[in-house]
Amino acid sequence: MKRIGLIGGMSWESSIVYYELLNKKVREILGGHHSCKSLMDTVDFDHIVKLQHEGKWEELDEIMADSAKRLEKAGADIIVLCTNTMHLCTSAIKASITIPFLHIAEATGMEIVSKGIKKVALLGTKFTMEKDFYKKVLADQFGIEVIIPTDEEREQIHQIIYGELVQGEIKDSSREVYKTIIKNLENRGAEGVILGCTEIPLLISDSDVNIPTFDTTTIHAVKAVEWALK
Ligand code: GLU
Repeated sequence: MKRIGLIGGMSWESSIVYYELLNKKVREILGGHHSCKSLMDTVDFDHIVKLQHEGKWEELDEIMADSAKRLEKAGADIIVLCTNTMHLCTSAIKASITIPFLHIAEATGMEIVSKGIKKVALLGTKFTMEKDFYKKVLADQFGIEVIIPTDEEREQIHQIIYGELVQGEIKDSSREVYKTIIKNLENRGAEGVILGCTEIPLLISDSDVNIPTFDTTTIHAVKAVEWALK
């Protein structure tokens, strides 16, 4: 088994989920007392959130690259970045390491294609929904058409992520907001919805909506285990 290096803490509410999923998946596959060989480097999320909202992406590039380097030096065989948003720093991370980097949008793209879905809605932070780094991977590498919520809906989604979900607050009223937005996207032709923020699966699951959901946290963690056991 290879050792998975996790860049965590963004937020730790979802890093916990990654840790649990990796270990459960390894035990499911190997049985016995097996657990997943892993290392986690946790950053201070408060600092990250400030830099994101000030648009200081070069500084964030440096922090992510340092974390990846630390994990490689400590013995990781692959890097898994436990957040969708911070994949904006992919180039900086890849340039700083010699081991593979498992991109969350590539893992998700493979899953969407395997379900035969061609048009999906993307939910996530405003950075993920509005910038190109995520949609481009899905369109260019997998030929998937991606639609995003309206301005007002994106604002609501973003506020719920940073104001509640990353602080571990799960509210029924916010679930209703997400369900309404997903329904609107379904009416606009979305055949599935990407839960493209690692905390959204804490709020929404398949049973809440009519179209298939793509839980990026689970998809990413499972792909990492498959790689580690290959
Ligand atoms: N975990 C979230 C994501 O997957 C948002 C937190 C962050 O800004 O990294 O995008």
